Amino acid sequence: MTHSLRSHSILNPAPCGPDSDLEYVVCDYCGTDRTHRLATLPPVEALPLPMHRLGASALRLGGERIHFCQCQTCGLVYMNPRLTEAAIARFYDTVYGTQGASEGFESDQRARAAHILDVVARLLDDAGDRGMSPSAGARPQVLDIGCGAGQLLQEAQRRGWEVRGTELSQVAAQHASQVLGVPIHCGDFRELGLPAGSLDLVVMQAVVEHLRAPIDFLRDSAALLRPGGVLFFSVPNVASAEHRLARLLGQPWRGFIVEHLYYFTPAFLRRLTADLGLEIAFMSSWNPLSRWPNPWRDLRRVGQGTPTSEPRSAPATPLPPFAGAHAPLAKRVLRQATNYLFDIVSKVSEGRRGGASTSGNVLFVWARKPR
Ligand SMILES: [Zn+2]
Repeated sequence: MTHSLRSHSILNPAPCGPDSDLEYVVCDYCGTDRTHRLATLPPVEALPLPMHRLGASALRLGGERIHFCQCQTCGLVYMNPRLTEAAIARFYDTVYGTQGASEGFESDQRARAAHILDVVARLLDDAGDRGMSPSAGARPQVLDIGCGAGQLLQEAQRRGWEVRGTELSQVAAQHASQVLGVPIHCGDFRELGLPAGSLDLVVMQAVVEHLRAPIDFLRDSAALLRPGGVLFFSVPNVASAEHRLARLLGQPWRGFIVEHLYYFTPAFLRRLTADLGLEIAFMSSWNPLSRWPNPWRDLRRVGQGTPTSEPRSAPATPLPPFAGAHAPLAKRVLRQATNYLFDIVSKVSEGRRGGASTSGNVLFVWARKPR
């Protein structure tokens, strides 16, 4: 299937140099390049997660720093300069070649899947659909883009949905395919050639922020929905309470990481979804998987010198040292106390189950195509 590329960021990149892994881009939504800088990614050795240090050490930044900027015209937040496509591939090869790709990301995903599908069922019920497609007797149809090991599709299948998935990781796609008993497409969903207006639900969990051209991607996925159908996606929230507190304290926000090319605000998402011909039916930052912070666990880590756990399997490439690991005890305790404060703010700002708080670090969006 061919699709016309309208992306501003893909069509207008400017390489930073012949040997650089960075490129300058314009706003993917409005095509302008008037921005103000929100943050600068810390140098590799100051990144707290071992995996980030390992992946970032494989990049050629040539003294350039990576910034996160907000478009002054439309409000979209994006990495600029950003990593080239080849550099990101090298980053993931380095990180995932060292450790199991999905280790730690697959546990307890069922609670999240159930929550997402419960809200979808309520929205379809509200619209008088009873969760069924317009064609009599047909099962409702879902496409999960970036379905991982297929946990959401498994829950949907259990509820009587007809399921389809796409996944870039071949290992994950094969696993999902075996679990579900249906083929999972390894690649871009647009290669499937699904007819416009044919799906009841399209899901994108933790996908949009990684894309090089998120606006085209969202537009093309929204086009697959039938009237009354729902697009569910999650994105990092740059308008979160934790980000605001970090700015107030002059600290780097933990949400700005080297893998995320895009960040969003509730206001921008309302504007964008309206542009895509959708209306936001429900938006919430409540996360069924998040837990209250545990001070005893954190205190133990202070004694170990690093704020996070090291990988379980020994990496083939030596880990670059964490710049803050040998800081004086008082400094490490302060750093951990700040992390703890951020954890609490993050948890509280998510709001309650079923609530519509939009102050948490992640926004979960259920957008519906009007009838
Ligand atoms: Zn813009």
